Amino acid sequence: MVDFTLTDKQREVRALIHGFAATVLRPNALAFDRAHCVPDDFLMRLSMMARAFPSGGGDAELPSEYGGQGDSGAKPAAPKKGSQAQRFTLIGAEEMAWGDASILLCMPGPGLGGPPVRFMGTPEQRARFFGVFQTPGLHFGAYGLTEPGAGSDVSGIRTSCRKDGATWVLNGRKCYITNGARADWVVIFATVDPALGRAGQRAFVVERGTPGFSVGKIEEKMGLRASETAELVLEDCRVPEANLLGGEALYAGKEGFMGAMKTFDMTRPLVGVMAVGIARAAFEYTRDFVRENYLLARPLPRYAQLAAMVAEMGRLVDASRLLCWRAAWMADEGMPNAKEASMAKAYAARAAMRVCADAVQVLGAHGLEKHQLVEKWYRDIKVYDIFEGTAQIQRIVIAKRILREVPTW
Ligand SMILES: Cc1cc2nc3c(=O)[nH]c(=O)nc-3n(C[C@H](O)[C@H](O)[C@H](O)COP(=O)(O)OP(=O)(O)OC[C@H]3O[C@@H](n4cnc5c(N)ncnc54)[C@H](O)[C@@H]3O)c2cc1C
Repeated sequence: MVDFTLTDKQREVRALIHGFAATVLRPNALAFDRAHCVPDDFLMRLSMMARAFPSGGGDAELPSEYGGQGDSGAKPAAPKKGSQAQRFTLIGAEEMAWGDASILLCMPGPGLGGPPVRFMGTPEQRARFFGVFQTPGLHFGAYGLTEPGAGSDVSGIRTSCRKDGATWVLNGRKCYITNGARADWVVIFATVDPALGRAGQRAFVVERGTPGFSVGKIEEKMGLRASETAELVLEDCRVPEANLLGGEALYAGKEGFMGAMKTFDMTRPLVGVMAVGIARAAFEYTRDFVRENYLLARPLPRYAQLAAMVAEMGRLVDASRLLCWRAAWMADEGMPNAKEASMAKAYAARAAMRVCADAVQVLGAHGLEKHQLVEKWYRDIKVYDIFEGTAQIQRIVIAKRILREVPTW
């Protein structure tokens, strides 16, 4: 039975992370947004503080045996039933995004590169690439799928890979890669032959410093400006065969492509709940503003309309969270959740955009001022409707599954 009542421990961890988000992330959010980066010394302090969080507050993409708080990398296909690990992760992520979503994306760790290494990597590869995060210093992983000609259509990637002796030679360009410029390694998806579609795709871990692997331009974005998004260039880049995720046998079927997709089933509810965190921040700010400025002082008709908007914002935040928690609960129970993960992400992103837009509307010109956070949340939230699959792509994923389903009643 689904039961979303928080345990005492979950409540305690949420309160701890909330305090951290309110006192460490929020006060720095605007300055880092203007600077377009989060300084390394701040990230170092942040990661030391986050490591002290009890289970549920730390790095969910890093398996527990490598110092993180994700599921064990040793048995990636068999999540512990009823573990609540995914939902616990979502609780922490909402609070962190409430504090600042840009800083959250800059946190050291394997990031989106974590799930493919967990799901597709051999035990040796997991030990090698996750082991990096146990060494001192700031360490990042990244996920390189998108290319100038292939964003939503991931089967259309053109980055090529060719086997030459004991190495693979990679050529191509990846774009908009989160933390790509500072990553110790990036999971790069390439193809042996574009004509083969998904069957031709391979995933490699390309390490920083590999000859032929370089960072191109850093994007200047409208939102999530403190989070670095980089172009990556591969020019006759020779990668050892030991860096082909899962080894060649994995690619006999559709496993390579499925590995990329499985990443999304794990990360879409997480991305959805980050949108919830931003939306909740905008909702709470607006609620307090209406309380303070309109409740007693203004004529009822105006207050009534604004109160109705605040009510709608609250409804959207709660509904989004529940969809995200359902998808996470299914993952925790070991149930397939691709449809529900897409529903959660698609709904939460669109709902959060509406909440942030309404926050500006209720606040009037005050909502557009650069020195306060509502304007930033309004800019930040749009990215959530684009990355991890656009709204249109989520609809395709959902529709395919709904139309294939056979009712069981
Ligand atoms: C801040 C940020 C961080 C990112 N981080 C990463 C990262 O770490 N790693 C990575 O690999 N990528 C990353 N991306 C890229 C992101 O995943 C892509 O932007 C996204 O997949 C959309 O691809 P696109 O931008 O090429 O748009 P397109 O795919 O060109 O889409 C343009 C429009 O067409 C619509 N569309 C496309 N196909 C269809 C269809 N079949 N039916 C209907 N409509 C369709 C889309 O919904 C969209 O509205 C990031 C992007 C951003 C903005």
